[in-house]
Amino acid sequence: KKLGIALVGLGNYSKGQLAPALQHTTNCYLAGIVTGTPAKAVEWSAKYNIPQKNIYNYQNFDEIADNPAIDIIYVVLPVFMHKEYTIRAARAGKHVICEKPMALNAQECAEMISACKNADRLLSIGYRLHFEPHNMEVMRLGQKEVLGKVTAIDTGNGFVYGGDPNAWRLKKALAGGGGLMDMGIYAIQGARYTLGQEPVAVKATQEKTRPELFKDVDETVFWELKFPGGAKVTGKSSYNNNWSYLHAQATNGKFALEPAYGYGSLDGTINGKPMQLPNIIQQAAQVDDFANCINANKQSRVPGEEGLKDMKVVDAIYRSLDSGKWETI
Ligand code: NAD
Repeated sequence: KKLGIALVGLGNYSKGQLAPALQHTTNCYLAGIVTGTPAKAVEWSAKYNIPQKNIYNYQNFDEIADNPAIDIIYVVLPVFMHKEYTIRAARAGKHVICEKPMALNAQECAEMISACKNADRLLSIGYRLHFEPHNMEVMRLGQKEVLGKVTAIDTGNGFVYGGDPNAWRLKKALAGGGGLMDMGIYAIQGARYTLGQEPVAVKATQEKTRPELFKDVDETVFWELKFPGGAKVTGKSSYNNNWSYLHAQATNGKFALEPAYGYGSLDGTINGKPMQLPNIIQQAAQVDDFANCINANKQSRVPGEEGLKDMKVVDAIYRSLDSGKWETI
């Protein structure tokens, strides 16, 4: 069965990426929307041929429980709303995809996971890179030790924030943090999936060059992660630097991604030679896989537990910024 997806929150990512990607899927389609802005309902309904019966707002959202045309709810809201809408979606009997970062902290992630379990619904995080050929190649090279054991990784992700100074992204209560939550999560994950291991401790420092803009959230954060295998792993995130790379050194060679983490065109090298892999519509592959998982009744490769693991690292990085010490994850 081709599953119906409803997008909750029609901001930049829904409008610019997810809705267009959902025109290229085979196992699911854009069936409904949830929006607080009536003008968007009119616009989206016309553009994507969405029937009135599949359009909800934040007041009548729970009535979606009675709508068999919606199988999956995709939460694309500011971070502070992720937990509430994921739990309400699961209680309405729907499978859920929640955007990254999964929630404000690891505690919220754990609550979301157990709510979906209790409702017997699948939960997945919007981790599109697990379906992206260059990043999948890095997982293979690192985890299967194709060039030997990975001994060092350096990775960073960030962009120069030029948006609204009053946006939710710059408010700790709404976003959970700044560049680390939004961009650093990819670099944390890049190291985790290159090694196929979970980090045990972290030490972090930060820098602010525009403190007037980033008064409430982190701007640039640097960290070192301890992994059980002993690889030396450094990472950084920023709202003030255009970074997107992963460099890995192994005992018999090296590999790299640059750009590593965006949804535009990505590139990678193995011992300096281009990977020559295709760029795909990552979000189409991601949601199609989740629809497949639902039809096959199996866990996604990016379940809530994967989001929780990253948030535990993020929480420990914030603790280390406060303490100035190594923190256990
Ligand atoms: P955005 O600000 O453009 O959109 C947020 C939407 O939520 C808006 O339509 C806004 O109207 C709506 N909203 C509803 N209630 C709100 C409230 N109380 N306060 C503020 N907004 C409210 O943000 P975005 O860039 O689309 O990001 C949304 C989510 O998607 C975030 O979790 C973000 O990290 C994630 N995202 C993921 C990727 C990715 O590559 N996976 C890329 C961009 C964004």
